[in-house]
Amino acid sequence: MATDYFGVLGLPRTASDSEIKRAYRRLARDLHPDVNPDPEAKERFQEVTRAYEALTDPEKRRIVDLGGDPFDTGPGAGGFGTGGFGGLGDIMDAFFGGAATRGPRSRTRAGRDALIPIELELDETVFGTTKDLTVDTAVLCSTCTGAGTAPGTHAATCATCSGRGEVQSVQRGFLGQVVSSRTCPSCGGTGQVIPEPCPECAGDGRIRARRTITVKVPAGVEDGMRIRLTGQGEVGPGGGPPGDLYVEVHERPHPVFTRDGEDLHCRVTLPMTSAALGTTLSLKTLDGEEDLDIRPGTQSGSVITLRAHGAPRLRATGRGNLLVHVEVATPTRLDAEQEKLLRELAALRGEDLPESHREAQGGLFSRVRDAFNGR
Ligand SMILES: [Zn+2]
Ligand SMILES: [Zn+2]
Repeated sequence: MATDYFGVLGLPRTASDSEIKRAYRRLARDLHPDVNPDPEAKERFQEVTRAYEALTDPEKRRIVDLGGDPFDTGPGAGGFGTGGFGGLGDIMDAFFGGAATRGPRSRTRAGRDALIPIELELDETVFGTTKDLTVDTAVLCSTCTGAGTAPGTHAATCATCSGRGEVQSVQRGFLGQVVSSRTCPSCGGTGQVIPEPCPECAGDGRIRARRTITVKVPAGVEDGMRIRLTGQGEVGPGGGPPGDLYVEVHERPHPVFTRDGEDLHCRVTLPMTSAALGTTLSLKTLDGEEDLDIRPGTQSGSVITLRAHGAPRLRATGRGNLLVHVEVATPTRLDAEQEKLLRELAALRGEDLPESHREAQGGLFSRVRDAFNGR
């Protein structure tokens, strides 16, 4: 069933556009999350905003008038935010940016965030490091300190809009005169113009500059993580507060170790004899040389765990483990002497292929062969 959007705004179906506008404005002022922290109010605010959009957007209103629901995008859908509900910002601008806080907007705006990647070696992500990064970014213009005016001059009131930041135009229509206002094209809505722009920044209040930033990379960061440097992004237009800088970690592959979160993995290959007899290996870990005890009878595929030799846990204490995967190499290219010894060993262990077995196989094969030869 289609939602009664008039009812949501507390209006009869005969309500005019201006009544809809007035009702919404009144409700939004009480319910807006900036003034009413109650979560129920927030929900209600979204409801009334949706109703307002349904009744004022011509395309959506057409659907409402036909008895449909412009936000109903089919069964299973219908969550808030689906169905092209992108107009909230515009609506809020219309009421709170334009109408409610009428007047020129500030020349100064906040700067954008920036994202830069850094490549790090495995030992740097595991143990942490400090890196100097060179970034090209917008910084405050030191000549005008953001004002955008040439030294000794000042900004002037915009002659086009007399400092109001918007210009009005009157149009005649069926319903009489319609007054509409739009952002002043001369000053961009700021109500001010700069007669003599700062020669350094051409009036923008900021300049592009290359600077070096020192980033402290904490021990245990992982590939893809972002380190946030508050206020290190670019300065905004008119010298507005800077955004944040995000440094995204890219971990270079290591020739020996692979990383799985806080654990490291590596592979060692042992001769069959060492695996059988046991031995001690010297293993180069990220922490330095470690003795790796190979117990007699170690099987291929077994895993030896070196505790706390992995990466530190980023949001906890302690470290992960280093897991050493053992592979046993079967000897190849035996010379006569070696083959003899292995045969003797096999015989001693009762692992030599018995004559009877070989005969049985030979017997089977000869029978098959006989069958094919038609004997
Ligand atoms: Zn400047
Ligand atoms: Zn203007």
